[in-house]
Amino acid sequence: MSLFTLTHTDGSARRGHLTTAHGVIQTPAFMPVGTQGAVKALTAQHLEDVGAEIILGNTYHLYLRPGDELIARRGGLHKFIGWSRPMLTDSGGYQVFSLSDRRKIEELGVHFRSHHDGSAHLLTPEKAVEIQANLGSDIAMVLDECPALPSTPAIIDTSLELTARWARRCRNRFLELKGEGKGHAQFGIVQGGTFPELRQKSAELTVSIGFDGYAIGGLSVGEPNETMYQVVEQTVPFLPVSQARYLMGVGTPIDLVEAVARGIDMFDCVMPTRNARNGQLFTSEGPLNIKNARFAEDDEPVDPACGCYTCRRFSRAYLRHLFMAGEMTGGTLNTLHNLSFYLDTMRRIREAIAFGRFEDFRQSFHRTFTRRALIS
Ligand SMILES: [Zn+2]
Repeated sequence: MSLFTLTHTDGSARRGHLTTAHGVIQTPAFMPVGTQGAVKALTAQHLEDVGAEIILGNTYHLYLRPGDELIARRGGLHKFIGWSRPMLTDSGGYQVFSLSDRRKIEELGVHFRSHHDGSAHLLTPEKAVEIQANLGSDIAMVLDECPALPSTPAIIDTSLELTARWARRCRNRFLELKGEGKGHAQFGIVQGGTFPELRQKSAELTVSIGFDGYAIGGLSVGEPNETMYQVVEQTVPFLPVSQARYLMGVGTPIDLVEAVARGIDMFDCVMPTRNARNGQLFTSEGPLNIKNARFAEDDEPVDPACGCYTCRRFSRAYLRHLFMAGEMTGGTLNTLHNLSFYLDTMRRIREAIAFGRFEDFRQSFHRTFTRRALIS
């Protein structure tokens, strides 16, 4: 059975769904990030209430604490965290490259030290697959090398070739485990920095291995937005039409709209949840900072156009008070709103594609979303 079903196209934008062991995900989809087996400040019930169809778990964090084997003994990550809908896990590579100490990359894998206690670990492609199988994710990612940008074409080329060799080993181990009834679907990752010919090469190498879907990695690491959009546009033509395309770690609401316009089906980003805890709330007219003194006696909801629990019940004045007082409830209410905004934006995107109105939606989104950014 194919994981991805494409149901509508509108320009390069695509509407479809993913069928996984834990249910169906409508695409384009946004995946809230549950770094340590929890989307920060929320319960599984909240996530169901805001309509999250899939969440992302971070392999690096869960492997180090509490450990993938401990989670496997509890019946897997879904059971452990009380979430019965689909889950995607990353390979752990990104955090190894961004968080850990004293890492050393070799053909075999990457040696690193835990950022908790300095303990030594070796993450191989096979090990990354095994950890994700222990977690029981519906969609697992291959281990890739994430070179820092900007970088030279020669360095990126050497790196993407290593990533392709690792991807082959990940696929082999995945298929072995799948034969034993462990593991559901696995995505390859295209690297290649900001060089079109290297993106093409990485896409061709990865697609030739044959995965259940393809991610574009190595973006949203500080490059200008326009560069990211260009790389997506240049990479997508080398990915199979019949399989899902996932843009990792992206992005702002505008980024989501622009990447969908270029043929992306899936996203994850900490932005809605992290920014919520820092007091930045996304609205249909752009972001607002709830810390701002002008909200102290503002009885309006965060976004009058939003139907979420936070906006139905509470004023900006109350949310500002909770933030200033450092109340945990503020983080929860802000996160509920931001995730509602992101998931509602995805729903509107899907509807626009299905009705052949995506370009109108895109232009109107740009006009309204940037309005407040100009005044605050
Ligand atoms: Zn709201």
